[in-house]
Amino acid sequence: MHEVSIAQSLLDIVLSECKKAGYKRVNSVSLLIGEASGVQIDSLRFAFDIIKRDTPAEGAKLLITTSPLTGKCLDCACLFYPRGDVVFECPKCSGKNLRMIKGKELDIVEIDVD
Ligand SMILES: [Zn+2]
Repeated sequence: MHEVSIAQSLLDIVLSECKKAGYKRVNSVSLLIGEASGVQIDSLRFAFDIIKRDTPAEGAKLLITTSPLTGKCLDCACLFYPRGDVVFECPKCSGKNLRMIKGKELDIVEIDVD
């Protein structure tokens, strides 16, 4: 399962930050996950709950915010939200210079520790 390795690297980062700062306990970890990142949030929560046991992150909650897939047209600078469809043309000007600027991220936004 892909999410187990994501959860593991997440935990590694959280624990090393926690240790570096000299804290004993992780209360929560805030994540920003793009809707098109391919991460299954339920699976990630499940995996994280298992691997956090017996670590300083044992009581840590995952606070997850999702970000919608967002495209930008380089011709007219408008933003659009593909919503699961593959978009080849700008919905406004039919331009084909499109970039996905959001929606694939997996970022740690904040780590709350004691
Ligand atoms: Zn356009």
